[in-house]
Amino acid sequence: MKILLASSEVHPFSKTGGLADMVGALGKALAAEGHEVFIVTPLYRGIRGRFTELRRVGVRVEVVLGEMLMEGEVWELRPRPGLRVWFVEQQECFDRLGLYGENNADYPDNAVRFTFFSKAVVQIARLLPGGAPDIVHVHDWQAALVPALLRREGHRTGWTPPRSVLTVHNLAYQGRFAQGAFALTNLPGEYFTMDGVEFYGDVNFLKAGIVYADMITTVSPRYAREICTEAYGCGLDDRLRARGDRLAGILNGVDYDEWSTHRNIHLKHPYSFRKMGGKAATKHDLQRELGLPARADVPLFATVTRLADQKGMDILLGALEEMLAKEMQFVLLGSGDPALQRGYQNLARRHPTKVTVRIGYDHALSHRIEAGCDFFLMPSRFEPCGLNQMYSLRYGAIPIVRRTGGLDDSVVDLTEDEERADGIKFTEFTTRALTGAIRKALVLHDTPHLLAQMRKNAMTADFSWSRTTQEYTQVYQRALAG
Ligand code: ADP
Repeated sequence: MKILLASSEVHPFSKTGGLADMVGALGKALAAEGHEVFIVTPLYRGIRGRFTELRRVGVRVEVVLGEMLMEGEVWELRPRPGLRVWFVEQQECFDRLGLYGENNADYPDNAVRFTFFSKAVVQIARLLPGGAPDIVHVHDWQAALVPALLRREGHRTGWTPPRSVLTVHNLAYQGRFAQGAFALTNLPGEYFTMDGVEFYGDVNFLKAGIVYADMITTVSPRYAREICTEAYGCGLDDRLRARGDRLAGILNGVDYDEWSTHRNIHLKHPYSFRKMGGKAATKHDLQRELGLPARADVPLFATVTRLADQKGMDILLGALEEMLAKEMQFVLLGSGDPALQRGYQNLARRHPTKVTVRIGYDHALSHRIEAGCDFFLMPSRFEPCGLNQMYSLRYGAIPIVRRTGGLDDSVVDLTEDEERADGIKFTEFTTRALTGAIRKALVLHDTPHLLAQMRKNAMTADFSWSRTTQEYTQVYQRALAG
């Protein structure tokens, strides 16, 4: 198949979260299966400097946004056979410090930026060498207008547009803008209805995708069920239920070339479940790097996360206040909500020998933390898939997760299956329930044979891309079947 993936972030070029990892890996995996894959993504500041092999391909886009004309130019990189990444250069839109905003505030013109991007994707779909793709697979709200725009382009010009698939990586981010943004789409008024892109008088990009895509996927089976309920549906559950026969939940895979314990530029001491010495050495180095006492016997808890409401960092702060009376260490790497940043920095000030907080984004350190820690905390309110718990499994760090979304689908608790258990789960979203889970972790740490068994299970759990790719291919086939 010929497949166009459209995403506002793609690892290793641009990243704010799991979306980037997923699209980067999906592109690679589909190409490895023999498909012809194009990834279309914005050319953000700094990419050309870091990837000097980028070349212009001689493709220009001319996008009409309301009454405005915006031009763009395409740059290309070919990371492997069968895979081409097309970067859309548009300096006003994308040559900025951030992807979506700065200083924790969204850019005020995000509707313009991503309507431009979505329209560029539609033009590119018509301009690809060798003809249009079979499937246009768009990701999250930033590209979610594409299915509606493709359909409109078909009606307007008589072109038969490719089939479209929308993946919702996080339903909480919908790209909702005041009604004025509708003019940017140049769609006829009939699209601005309750059954179209309109949402309580506003424009909702993600809803447009949910309504017009041929197939909808989300990133875990449990999250696919959750988002059809009022509690997790973020106001779109009725729309999702209405399209229930077109909705599939597919757990993300892990790029094990990247997240490897034995061949990894970010890890000085390789290890495997048979030879765990490298993990102990990594923990030792990490404790020193973080200014914590380098003690093998003290369990090291960690989290690497966006400091957002979703991630449950509020209940974690409460749980740590109580649990830090015990012999344990904790490290946080993350950034986001200023109040949470302050909360964690205060915690570190009060417990200098037990807590280290690194505010910021640091890819290499995230590898060292996942490899060096004993327990990885993900107490999310909701979690569409979550990649970090799968990375920590591979790195032999026992994940402590709330029973929600992809966390529930990827971790096995002792109470579920004693033989296959590889993590600790709790159910209620409360400080008390999380404190209980951390207490269990401390008991597990003092029970070496059980800890070793769970570590082995964790490190051998397999979330490789081959299964995920197969499931996406089936979704593409269903989209093509009509
Ligand atoms: P989400 O996409 O909701 O942020 P995921 O767990 O799916 O959550 O993916 C998060 C990804 O972003 C992981 O690869 C994680 O390591 C990375 N990440 C998040 N915050 C940071 C940070 N401060 N520094 C380095 N990597 C981070």
